[in-house]
Amino acid sequence: MRQELLRHRIPPPRDPHPRTRRRVVDPHRAEQAWRWHQARRNQELARGLGPAHGLQRSLEEAHGAVVEELELVAHRRHVEQEVAEYIAGNAADHERDFYDLVHSMRACHAAGFWGILDPEWRVVRGWEHKCAQSHLCPHAVRENQQRLVRRYEPPMLRWIAQKPGRRRLFYVVFEPPNVPRGALRDGKAQAWAWWQAWYREQRDVTPEDRRRWRWPRCKRRTGRWRPDLPWGRSDGVHGVLAHQEDPLSARGDWNVHINAVLLVEGPFSYREAQRAWERVTGVPGARIHAQQIKADPVAGRTFAEQLRLELLEVIKYSAKLTGSPDKGGRRRGGARVEGPPLVAWPFDAFREWYRATKGSRRTRSYGVLFRLPDPEPLEGDRVLWQGEIWWNGTGYRASLFTEDNFRARAAAAGADVALEWPESGPDPPPA
Ligand SMILES: [Zn+2]
Repeated sequence: MRQELLRHRIPPPRDPHPRTRRRVVDPHRAEQAWRWHQARRNQELARGLGPAHGLQRSLEEAHGAVVEELELVAHRRHVEQEVAEYIAGNAADHERDFYDLVHSMRACHAAGFWGILDPEWRVVRGWEHKCAQSHLCPHAVRENQQRLVRRYEPPMLRWIAQKPGRRRLFYVVFEPPNVPRGALRDGKAQAWAWWQAWYREQRDVTPEDRRRWRWPRCKRRTGRWRPDLPWGRSDGVHGVLAHQEDPLSARGDWNVHINAVLLVEGPFSYREAQRAWERVTGVPGARIHAQQIKADPVAGRTFAEQLRLELLEVIKYSAKLTGSPDKGGRRRGGARVEGPPLVAWPFDAFREWYRATKGSRRTRSYGVLFRLPDPEPLEGDRVLWQGEIWWNGTGYRASLFTEDNFRARAAAAGADVALEWPESGPDPPPA
């Protein structure tokens, strides 16, 4: 009898459910704890969505979006694997660094998770391994491009808006003469040295300058491009974002050049810029290609959209597997002769290029763009992981976790993944 009573007083264990208010979670039962936790977090998500939209439907929509985005990622992975196999097929037995590189590239973006960034409800992906080869990996190049846009676009737009009539942006390609094979490392250093010499070139002070800026007689020299007065008080190049590239040309030598976005207040003379470039390089005919960044009404692009496009142009995928002609070449008149794609380079050339570019800092900023803070990183603990991503040899597959596959969810929660910004593009500039 007594036993019977006790049995009635202690309720049997029940499956936890988000709607059950009074529930005791056994801490030793990780699965139960996990389900409870996830159900609560999903409730939080659902609250953010509003009553009209069901959580399950939204998650299914997000899953659909992920599957669609992964097609683009798959394209990049195919490109990367092509490069990896090119290296694997050509590297000599003793070149251990190339073997490590190939292993890293084969594993790059092979598996990961997708989830929702909590309050913003944005789809993010996390990857178990990234090769981080900023010169060889199309994923890394794209990430660099996005980081560049997030970091430099808002300050550039703010800078223009302060004096819309007098301030302009120019996209400029500085082209020193091509560098012969075997001399790429020196050629790259020389290109930067020439660029610095161009940017820091001095000229004589004119009587007009003296009158305008009230400079004393003892001041005889001033910067030709870089203003001597604090930013904003005088004409000149107020800031620069520069990026160096070195594809192999069709002739078989290195086409080292520097792409730059110049922030110019006041007049800017192409001809004078060209002459100064010839002076510092000592090569008559060393070319500069410059064009102002403007809204493009024909293509229906606003100034901000055009600027974003040009910023993406600043960093191109070095391997150039897409074969898009670079800016410098487009204006050379007649049909452009394109260099071969990376996977068609002689391996000697690749070896030289890889060792010359490894560890070299290719993006530099000056003036008002110097030492801007890094954009905020994504926070992993704000992501609610919703599914797994894996590569099946030809493309990606993505799952959507259900209530039951606890193991997969726990794996997602404990995984050491590198987060990636959403495919929808960089953040809009703050209003
Ligand atoms: Zn990679």
